[in-house]
Amino acid sequence: MQDDIRDYRIPEEPYYRAVGEEVELYEAAYAVRMPMMLKGPTGCGKTRFVEYMAWKLDRPLITVACNEDMTASDLVGRYLLDADGTRWQDGPLTLAARHGAICYLDEVVEARQDTVVVIHPLTDNRRVLPLEKKGELVKAHADFQLVISYNPGYQSLMKDLKQSTKQRFGALDFGYPEAEVEREIVTHETGVDGDTAGKLVSVAERARNLKGHGLDEGISTRMLVHAGSLIQRGVPPLAACRMALVRPLTDDPDMRDALDAAVTTFF
Ligand code: ADP
Repeated sequence: MQDDIRDYRIPEEPYYRAVGEEVELYEAAYAVRMPMMLKGPTGCGKTRFVEYMAWKLDRPLITVACNEDMTASDLVGRYLLDADGTRWQDGPLTLAARHGAICYLDEVVEARQDTVVVIHPLTDNRRVLPLEKKGELVKAHADFQLVISYNPGYQSLMKDLKQSTKQRFGALDFGYPEAEVEREIVTHETGVDGDTAGKLVSVAERARNLKGHGLDEGISTRMLVHAGSLIQRGVPPLAACRMALVRPLTDDPDMRDALDAAVTTFF
């Protein structure tokens, strides 16, 4: 059965704490149907932001987690065999283009170049998607928009996006929120008190200073939400921080000790 586009509606307002002018800027970008690139480290609110914007703009949201095994067919669609013979099934990108959804390609840099190029004709003034196997040229619905996320710190030069792809997008930078804002987010998401949330944020700030000095990535807001949720369930803070903040981040014993020490400074 063909996916029902109504399943992709976001029924309730997602909690999103704006950190700057991103909401207004995105609305303007959507008004002119500019394809958008959300740049920033993992776990800093990009996905939540798109969910919020899709809700605010009253558009369905189709999200695709990109990976290197993904083919163009996984995005545009393929013929399937069933009892009655073959039938075409739209992929997520085609579904979004036909029905005027926002299509969010998460971590697009993970996809191979020959996969990424299928988005090109949708991101210039043609706004079309050729389905070569089907012999159809899908004209994008007026409400369709493409959004990609991209973590600039983390891929090697070999895995960067091509300029010919990047230059099709407007971009918004995302980073870890300021301490006060992040405390508010952790409190809201987990129910822990402001004091505990503040301590979690302080641990994260310490760890973020170690990025590039033995750590590839800092402790993300997502990890703080995990730790806060455990504490709220009654897990002792030290154990919660070790499990949710320190152990996932690094395998290096010295770095673990340094991070554990940061945790005990605050808890
Ligand atoms: P990303 O897509 O950047 O990897 P997410 O959007 O999934 O990260 O964010 C991870 C979690 O962090 C969210 O589920 C949410 O709990 C929290 N979060 C981060 N930033 C915000 C924000 N600005 N407003 C609300 N929640 C946020």
